[in-house]
Amino acid sequence: MSAAQAKQKQATPSSVDAVVVGAGFSGMYLIHRLRKMGLSVQAFETGSDVGGTWYWNRYPGARCDSDSVHYSFSFDKDIEQEWSWSERYSPQPEILKYQQFVADKLDLRRNIKFDTRVAETVFDESTNKWTVTTDAGDNVTCRYLIMATGCLSNSRMPDMKGMDSYKGDVYHTGQWPHEGVDFTGKRVGIIGTGSSAIQAIPQIAKQAKHLTVFQRTPNYSLPAQNHKLDPEYVAEVKANYPELREAARWSAGGMPRPVPTKSALEVSAEEREAAYRKAWEGGGADMLGVFTDIATNKEANETAAEFMRARIDEIVKDPAVAEMLKPYDYPIGTKRICIDIDYFETYNRDNVTLINVKKDPIQELTPEGLRTGEQEFEFDAIVFATGFDAMTGALTSINIKGRGGDTLKEAWAAGPRTYLGLMSHGFPNMFMITGPGSPSVLSNMTTSLEQHVEFVTDYIEKLDAKGVVAVEPDLKAQDDWVDTVNEVAKMSLHTDDSVNSWYLGANVPGKPRVFMPYIGGVGAYRQICNDVAANDYEGFNETLPGATAQGTSAMAGQSA
Ligand code: NAP
Repeated sequence: MSAAQAKQKQATPSSVDAVVVGAGFSGMYLIHRLRKMGLSVQAFETGSDVGGTWYWNRYPGARCDSDSVHYSFSFDKDIEQEWSWSERYSPQPEILKYQQFVADKLDLRRNIKFDTRVAETVFDESTNKWTVTTDAGDNVTCRYLIMATGCLSNSRMPDMKGMDSYKGDVYHTGQWPHEGVDFTGKRVGIIGTGSSAIQAIPQIAKQAKHLTVFQRTPNYSLPAQNHKLDPEYVAEVKANYPELREAARWSAGGMPRPVPTKSALEVSAEEREAAYRKAWEGGGADMLGVFTDIATNKEANETAAEFMRARIDEIVKDPAVAEMLKPYDYPIGTKRICIDIDYFETYNRDNVTLINVKKDPIQELTPEGLRTGEQEFEFDAIVFATGFDAMTGALTSINIKGRGGDTLKEAWAAGPRTYLGLMSHGFPNMFMITGPGSPSVLSNMTTSLEQHVEFVTDYIEKLDAKGVVAVEPDLKAQDDWVDTVNEVAKMSLHTDDSVNSWYLGANVPGKPRVFMPYIGGVGAYRQICNDVAANDYEGFNETLPGATAQGTSAMAGQSA
């Protein structure tokens, strides 16, 4: 069924076993699994088709920066064998096409209502059911509510003075027009130099009359060394998928990768340089994994950072611009590493200017463009590549009311509190896929989300077999998990005082400084989940009919 056909069948049931929020990779797999278990499912999706991240992020240059052969579903052997990726890091249109292929193949769209945003979800303690209300007027009750809302789906415009006064075109990379944008002959400004900007800047520069880049924090970016995939390589991967996928499941980052054995500090300078150069030439993020201690030891980390700065000097012709592009203030890898195609090279173009807005901040948008303290700029278009309210934003923007009417937003006011990133105390029967407290954004997302979907659906099957009517994490188990997530994070440089990353919520004014993902690794996390399941799902409180639910208010977690 096409998206258009699915849209015509808008009537939603008033009651289902499970409501799934979101139809990106996670929501798609959930629908498939839940249906196979014989449950009735209703999914809601704001976009007009499946895709999630890849439906919205259509900015020029958008592509995956996990290898495509690994950034894909592993659960269906036919899909795995039928689909062939064309490039090492496939572009957004190809990833979206893949998701559409999967949706067609598994006939997923018949359970999804598109163009519909979930506005509110309310838990009724007397029935142990959720009522889900949408902006299209749906009211659906369900036994299980599963949030497949994505980690980077709530795009953020900064609160700048004069936003409404600017008369030109305004774009956000995360909400890109589907018909595309032609910047030919235009004067364009782009704000931000994160992963999205670093992919978009080289492409926009090729079209625009002039591109002005407003950089607040320089980023470490590694060359993708992207290339077309040789069909022989693709065939070899397909033949070896079972082993490759299994290796990914037990790896640190959700990809089959060699495990480093040496410290960056125990080898000679020549050996270190050779290892970094090999990784640089090989492309992608591998450079961060060539030694054991780049993520944990400042001195080791600095050797990698210095290697990167030297490459910027080699690539960028104007020494003053090269200097501006070099990150010095935070360890490499502690803000999400960027992967680029010709990013630094783009600053050698005559039609590109770099402005340091840390030194000379943007004061306001004007009718013609924008003004920093020292300069005025005129633009036909301004692109905001200013990121997302990551990990929690998509969840807290829905009015989720758990036990006693407490909202998730209030319960997480001092930072997200979850058990294994899967559930939050006070919100019975509500699961999250790749929620805060799970490896999620620190891993190859498809590996992590498959593990979550499988854990949740397997658990639901067992709960139903036992006749359980309500389940939620024990408060102590949740508190212990939050402590574990924090303790593991402290062992890495990610929480160093110098770091202001979106992992820490630092990009959203007022958001508490809490390291949100679990950094202990995908394999370690999987083992913990497997152990929890093997120990009769320890840490989850299950309520049978007639018994009183053992939970307390969601706000109880606040004081822990
Ligand atoms: P981001 O990494 O949060 O970058 C936002 C940029 O905007 C930063 O350079 C930030 O500066 C700047 N900024 C924000 N507010 C500003 C303001 N008021 N004034 C000036 N500058 C401002 O967002 P993103 O680039 O969209 O990437 C987010 C994440 O999405 C990535 O880290 C990655 O996980 C994912 N992503 C993945 C891919 C991929 O797989 N290929 C591609 C794109 C994105 P500061 O650094 O100073 O805050």
